[in-house]
Amino acid sequence: MTARIPPPSGIASCVVPTRVLMGPGPSDMHPRVVAALGKPAIGHLDPAFVAMMEEIKTLLRYAFQTRNELTFAVSGPGSVGMETCFVNLVEPGDKIIVCRNGVFGGRMIENVQRLGGSALMVDDGWGEPVDPEKVADALKANPDAKAVAFVHAETSTGAQSDAAAIVGLARNAGCLSIVDAVTSLGGTPVLTDQWGADAVYSGSQKCLSCVPGLAPVTFSERAIARLKERKNKVPSWFMDLGLVLEYWNAPGGKRVYHHTAPVNSLFALHESLVMLRDEGIETAWGRHRLHHAALKAGLEVLGLRFLVREDARLPQLNTVHVPVGIDEAGVRRQLLDRYNLEIGAGLGPLAGKVWRLGLMGYSARAENVELCLGALAETLSGMGVEADKGAALAAARSIFTGVQA
Ligand SMILES: *Cc1c(COP(=O)(O)O)cnc(C)c1O
Repeated sequence: MTARIPPPSGIASCVVPTRVLMGPGPSDMHPRVVAALGKPAIGHLDPAFVAMMEEIKTLLRYAFQTRNELTFAVSGPGSVGMETCFVNLVEPGDKIIVCRNGVFGGRMIENVQRLGGSALMVDDGWGEPVDPEKVADALKANPDAKAVAFVHAETSTGAQSDAAAIVGLARNAGCLSIVDAVTSLGGTPVLTDQWGADAVYSGSQKCLSCVPGLAPVTFSERAIARLKERKNKVPSWFMDLGLVLEYWNAPGGKRVYHHTAPVNSLFALHESLVMLRDEGIETAWGRHRLHHAALKAGLEVLGLRFLVREDARLPQLNTVHVPVGIDEAGVRRQLLDRYNLEIGAGLGPLAGKVWRLGLMGYSARAENVELCLGALAETLSGMGVEADKGAALAAARSIFTGVQA
């Protein structure tokens, strides 16, 4: 007789603390999105569900500013959206130009190499945007390159790259473009059709303020043509677009079971996209810019300097240098313990050196800007830094009232 595993003791239902999320994602979910998530599940082939999936596709076309037929949400986090693009569009031996100016460009290299492609690097510093001139040089030096891949909004640094320019260069050279818009979608303009981008992926938990675990994607006709020309089967069963689409894009509405869609998460995505549509995407971009301006005004009063040069800063992800001599992790700990406020740490070469303050989606609210400035001022003062809380809050408020006036 083998002994049974005894039931674990000391574990009860999870008590979730109430936090304010101002890190690199996930962002705060709007109560309407939380409510949608809590609706009773229905079958993933239920006609009511199928109708909702069609609406999600339409709403995503609005969010991505595209008429691409092939626009839907991959069941998986942003990383699965990334992998879906690479696994379908890269074949063994393909040369892919990959721009790297932070963590996520590095992951693209991994994707290319694991698929048997060769990644030709265009490197820029952490905190710099991708330099389009370097992309142009790489395209000239590699006329046989198949695609250019880059991150529009580098969440590891807070830098935004010139997607229109990079996509344009790729197009002129006859290359596909693969664009990471995980942090930009809903926060700053993602203009898929205007740019002429071929494969764009995002995530649900950043500026869409939805539950983590869904990856909106969109593919151009050129990307679909590339897919049809493949010599090899897509090396992933789950992410093979040809198979997924028999479920998401079935001709004549006859959907074929592929995998069980995350029903409740899709209810939540639908709700967050309806909210984006109601707000208006330009208004959402403006809201992110406004809250960034207010936060920036306060941070500057506190003496905190930005990593990224002004014209390349992402409003939804503010990276500031940690003052000399300050215990970086200690500050984050205090913000969490005393103010229930989460901010992000630095990654890679920026670990220990910066904080990343997110203002994504529903997190981009005046009360959060004030909470963050107040909490930082009090915490830094407690550590002996001169930090004038009243002046920082006044600076932020003057931005809000200035705009409202
Ligand atoms: C968050 C993020 C990802 C990965 O998304 P996950 O949902 O964490 O898998 C990819 N790229 C960028 C730019 C991101 O910010």
